[in-house]
Amino acid sequence: MSITHPQTYPHPDYEAAHQQTYERAPRHPITPIPLPPGVGQTDFDSAISEFISIAGEESVFVKEGLSDYIDPYDVHEHDPSQRKLPSAAVCPDSTDQLSSVLRVANKYKIPLWHFSRGKNLGYGGPAPRVNGSVALDLHKLDKIIEVNDEYHYAVVEPGVTFIQLYEYCVEHKKKVWPSTPSLGWGSVIGNTVDRGMGFGMNYAHHQCVAGIEVMLPDGDVVRTGQWGISSSPSAFLSKFTFGPSLEGLFFQSNLGVVTKMSLWLTPQPQAYMCCSFSMPLFTDLEVMVDAFGEMKRNGTVQSCVWFTSLIETLCIMGRREDYWTGEGPVPDWRLEELRQETGFGHWYARWGLYGPKRIVEAQFEEIKSVLARRAPTGTIAGNLYAHPGEDGRLDATTVPDQDGQMFVGIPSLWSLPLINWPISKEKKDGKAAHGDYAPVIPSNGKLLMEWMEVSKPICEANGVELMADFFMHERHVVLMNMFTWDQTDKTQKEKMERLYYGLYEEAKKRGYGMYRGHVNHMDLIAHLNDFNNHAYNRFVEKIKDAIDPNGILGPGKQGIWPKRFRHLRETQEKRFD
Ligand SMILES: Cc1cc2nc3c(=O)[nH]c(=O)nc-3n(C[C@H](O)[C@H](O)[C@H](O)COP(=O)(O)OP(=O)(O)OC[C@H]3O[C@@H](n4cnc5c(N)ncnc54)[C@H](O)[C@@H]3O)c2cc1C
Repeated sequence: MSITHPQTYPHPDYEAAHQQTYERAPRHPITPIPLPPGVGQTDFDSAISEFISIAGEESVFVKEGLSDYIDPYDVHEHDPSQRKLPSAAVCPDSTDQLSSVLRVANKYKIPLWHFSRGKNLGYGGPAPRVNGSVALDLHKLDKIIEVNDEYHYAVVEPGVTFIQLYEYCVEHKKKVWPSTPSLGWGSVIGNTVDRGMGFGMNYAHHQCVAGIEVMLPDGDVVRTGQWGISSSPSAFLSKFTFGPSLEGLFFQSNLGVVTKMSLWLTPQPQAYMCCSFSMPLFTDLEVMVDAFGEMKRNGTVQSCVWFTSLIETLCIMGRREDYWTGEGPVPDWRLEELRQETGFGHWYARWGLYGPKRIVEAQFEEIKSVLARRAPTGTIAGNLYAHPGEDGRLDATTVPDQDGQMFVGIPSLWSLPLINWPISKEKKDGKAAHGDYAPVIPSNGKLLMEWMEVSKPICEANGVELMADFFMHERHVVLMNMFTWDQTDKTQKEKMERLYYGLYEEAKKRGYGMYRGHVNHMDLIAHLNDFNNHAYNRFVEKIKDAIDPNGILGPGKQGIWPKRFRHLRETQEKRFD
């Protein structure tokens, strides 16, 4: 059994960021290590021995070796009764090993918590929903099976990161721009199955999936869509299926482990334009959302439009104390001064235009003209980068960082500094953490404005500014109310819980569900599916019981409980005075 972790990222800067994230996480010792519920010490020890014979000593972790398998941003780090901890971790490096791990888990009825890179930071990282689950870490399954630049797709295993896929495409001169989230250290599969998002054309990752391969809890392997036909030439080209589409059953799910996934990529374009539009006033959000919403729906803007509030724009460049040294959150009057000093808008939208140069130019002209009519007080900018030949393809690395990076599919750790916002440089033992409340809201200016007006005082009452951003889709936006805190400050952590529940109550009143959620809040969010006595959850749990009778895979994930662990569902909504 291993105590120390081998380096998991070949890049020194990625490895350093990983080490920094985890190095001071277990300030509160990760003891006592829980056993899996309902499993005795003898069975647990036998299971660990069998995991070792499957994966090897160096791929099974216990005790201090679990320091990389906790939530480094846990608000309950100080409270052993609420903290989420695994009992052990196992890292299979092949699908054969994976099926053997599942067999052992079934034999001893040991719950597993599966993830690809475990970088789901803000949502629990690698920490399990049920204490004492064994972390099933898939990062060693890291083969890029194919990158096809005729049809523009990739097929990858779970451990493949965004930076790995990008570098593979560069090395093999593939004519594609893979989409990337703002942090390149996560896995393509983990991000996609959790319905994560990038910034370019194929930004809604889960909507770019055709065939996937899944291992069910009993070790059986299923391929979906056209890939269900062993010899299909359309395996990764079509979402059409003869019968029900199955992919969705494995997104945000505990019904199977995705072992291979196809993902459509953006063809390397001839031209790319980095575009931005900003408006000065808090209340300008309404016209901005409505103008862009219509352009998303009518196809004028096809990529992701990413909106940020002024605080979020500032937090990438500095910390709160760089802008405000008074007590509490930055007050409105100071924010207005900052807006004037920096020249940023109160709202700032960024997007890219991609394709043949003439089309990109025409799109930009159209956008300019729409915004001049509908939002005349705003400021638009567009910087064009194009290959001179009509059949040429633009090299993403020729776009300067300030206009490119994640917008042209180059992964980085660009957004990581934002979490340092509340940490004073004087406080040497401070440790940054972040979370978000992420409701799905119609793409409607009035409703977005209303949400900002409702959420701002809740944030401020809990000591933080309204730090918001959102990804605009055709008919809805995925809003992020971001919050960052000092992990060493118990009072701040408690305030973040209050903030989360405050936002939850307001979202619930409006019927807003959630895009994604932290392991601590999964039952709460799942409970929002109230139609017909929670028919959605009842249906998924019927499937769960049928295919995972021992309830070994991810019990409680997304509020889906197997029969054996259903008593662990949290039914009470938390209330604060
Ligand atoms: C500062 C900051 C910025 C961020 N920016 C973005 C952003 O721009 N876009 C974005 O989408 N996210 C963002 N995130 C959130 C998160 O970091 C990323 O989504 C990250 O890619 C997720 O980590 P991962 O890929 O390692 O997934 P994992 O942690 O491996 O998994 C994510 C989820 O998918 C499930 N899962 C993983 N693998 C499998 C599998 N093989 N089969 C079945 N289920 C599986 C896991 O159980 C887990 O629930 C950000 C976070 C921070 C802190």
